[in-house]
Amino acid sequence: MNVKGYAALKPNTDLVPYEFTRRDLRPNDVQIEILYAGICHSDIHQVREEWGDSLFPMVPGHEIAGKVTAVGSEVKNFKVGDLAGVGVYIDSCRKCPNCLAGESQYCHEGMTGTYNGYERDGVTVAQGGYSTGIVIDAGYVVSIPENLDLAGVAPLLCAGITLYSPLKHWEAGPGKKVAIVGLGGLGHMGVKYAHALRCRSNRAFTFG
Ligand SMILES: [Zn+2]
Ligand SMILES: [Zn+2]
Repeated sequence: MNVKGYAALKPNTDLVPYEFTRRDLRPNDVQIEILYAGICHSDIHQVREEWGDSLFPMVPGHEIAGKVTAVGSEVKNFKVGDLAGVGVYIDSCRKCPNCLAGESQYCHEGMTGTYNGYERDGVTVAQGGYSTGIVIDAGYVVSIPENLDLAGVAPLLCAGITLYSPLKHWEAGPGKKVAIVGLGGLGHMGVKYAHALRCRSNRAFTFG
């Protein structure tokens, strides 16, 4: 599938229109028309090579929300028209204890990033969500409820989960106090989650 996107062609340059090809649908793949992609600060870090060597041309974007436009013959959990999201990784080894336990983000071989890395064939450079479409294994796609605003959903796929996960881990909920360090792209989501989870507020620091 040919897609249009925005890519940094070299380190620390502006993104420019860029056309490239996504792989043909495999039996377990989902093809997604990307309708929204959040801008995560790590996109900026990687375009600027602030985390070491980057791969160029680079199409950043790992907060992807869109609509399923095709599914492979073996895909059971998605159908055409479903809303779907993709976060910071698109694959993993699928056989280590963590992958088998459903914790593929902790894959012993390392998860396969949504962009700025090679896919598991070791050859194909993964390209991210600042583009019109993506083809990805269905096991690495999240389902998005129909009643949600997709523009608001996209940033949940990285910034959101990063705050939601520790709040759930520490059982944030009614009566508990929560401290969020920093109120940027991630921190403000933590405050909103804490409010939604009905954590305790007081006059010195009220939620909402
Ligand atoms: Zn991110
Ligand atoms: Zn693994």
